[in-house]
Amino acid sequence: MNNDGLLNPFDLVAIVEKRGGYTEEEIAEAMAPTAAETRRAERAAAVEANPCKRCGGSGVLDHYWHVRGGVCFRCGGNGVDPR
Ligand SMILES: [Zn+2]
Repeated sequence: MNNDGLLNPFDLVAIVEKRGGYTEEEIAEAMAPTAAETRRAERAAAVEANPCKRCGGSGVLDHYWHVRGGVCFRCGGNGVDPR
């Protein structure tokens, strides 16, 4: 217990382990990003590093909504410039 009365994360893990019987692996799994979140983060990093010159990385072109739903024809909708 800290002076301010707040528990630090290590104390919380210890309490959860005691009361809930969770293993460290189960807690780590629960706190880890999901595969979808990881993919989203990787895509966001790729877009940031090399944004599509046509759509600016959004993957869609609002003024081309009538063509294939506005999906950017340069990057195919993923927002990464296909150089
Ligand atoms: Zn694009």
